[in-house]
Amino acid sequence: MYEICQKCSPSGFNKAEFLLKNFQLAKEFGLDAKFVESKECLDIFSGVSLPENSNPIAQAYAGHQFGHYNSQLGDGRAILIGEINNKDIQLKGIGQTPFSRRGDGKSSLGPVLREYVVSEFMHTLNIPTTRALFAIKTNENVIRETKQPGGVLVRVAKSHIRIGTFEYARAQSNKVLKSLADYSINRHYPELNKTENKYLSFFAAVCDKQASLISKWMSIGFVHGVMNTDNMTISGETIDYGPCAFMDDYDPKTVFSSIDHHGRYAYKNQPSIMVWNLTKFAESLIPLIHEETEKSVKQLTEVLQLVIPSYNEYFYKEFSRKLGLSKMDIEEIKIIEDYLKILKSNSIDFTKSFRDLSKIYLSIIDVKESVFLNAKDFTNWYKRWNHRLDPKIIKKIDGINPSYIPRNHIIENALMHSINNDDSKIRELIKVISQPFEEVSGYEDFASPSKINTGRYVTYCGT
Ligand code: AMP
Ligand code: MG
Repeated sequence: MYEICQKCSPSGFNKAEFLLKNFQLAKEFGLDAKFVESKECLDIFSGVSLPENSNPIAQAYAGHQFGHYNSQLGDGRAILIGEINNKDIQLKGIGQTPFSRRGDGKSSLGPVLREYVVSEFMHTLNIPTTRALFAIKTNENVIRETKQPGGVLVRVAKSHIRIGTFEYARAQSNKVLKSLADYSINRHYPELNKTENKYLSFFAAVCDKQASLISKWMSIGFVHGVMNTDNMTISGETIDYGPCAFMDDYDPKTVFSSIDHHGRYAYKNQPSIMVWNLTKFAESLIPLIHEETEKSVKQLTEVLQLVIPSYNEYFYKEFSRKLGLSKMDIEEIKIIEDYLKILKSNSIDFTKSFRDLSKIYLSIIDVKESVFLNAKDFTNWYKRWNHRLDPKIIKKIDGINPSYIPRNHIIENALMHSINNDDSKIRELIKVISQPFEEVSGYEDFASPSKINTGRYVTYCGT
């Protein structure tokens, strides 16, 4: 696999300190609390010294960014220092690599903390994601538009193989492509080795993982923000939390990223962009499927055509669970769609709506005290829904629909405090969202959109 990675040692940050430590994840990796507190641990994860037998690498990849092909991307600011329990341990923001192009290879602290918080939250909700082991403050500044404190994220992933890695391999040679595909199958889908055409099965498996993943994003109002092919894993984990954010009021057109001027990666476009990305993946697999290109294309297209039907099934399953429905027949699908129409036409907070619905059902609050207060079409909808809901499932919906999410204004405030050396807000946020389903008195502000209307929330690509 040397064709797609380069050996590269971190130069390290001597003045670094840990800002956030994920003790639970460290424990899963056999790193006990005493080690996590040690200087040796800090030195390893801030790139000062390498773990024994480490063979640090930066990976090459290509990718379609906002629809345009870039043949030379790669880990420009991340070094993989090894594996624990078959998981990649990567230092993101660690300094220059052979793929840095003109970049400094560093990260500012804000985006490091955002990725830590949001990826761990996704994990709490059982949404496949890379994880965050540590957030490190480098105590050095990075120069962006202004001087900002620098940070390193210690990221854990099933692997860092992206659709873009395949696009890169395809451009190298069929030999490189085949060895990447074999490696990926053995690492992530070993059961496919037994199938008749393992590369076609591999494609279908990745399609399935992506369809399931994106349906889960949609179910919690998550907007990834930069669904380029280099930010889509073949393991099906969410990766590269840059300008991501959660929707407050339900509006399918929601887009947060400052650079997404045409809404390519808006909330509602995520499923079709997933298909677009998988099409690029299919194109890079063509030489492996059949020796005749035409037959390859035909077989890959047949699989690709199943992605949206499969996505729709996942999507309605997610929303059925959220609404305590279980049949997924035409009437229930209509109930889900009409619910979303009510949210849209009345600009209702997406996350809060599901919690209020449950409270209305349980007579804890009245409609007038809920987010549905001014929604005229709600009463009729409620009757239809009430008639259909599954009494066994409705009891469980508060364990599916989070009360607390890392809301935009709250995360922004927490990051700003951290950057100014006050970590109390980010620690409080992490505590609240680590138990997102249990409502705690005193935390009401975490469950509501901002009371101050500051206009459209804008996020920036995290560099
Ligand atoms: P991302 O926006 O994090 O998905 O990054 C897109 C590409 O830009 C990847 O190839 C990154 O490695 C590269 N990149 C982002 N920030 C930097 C940086 N500060 N220095 C070097 N390369 C970077
Ligand atoms: Mg990326």
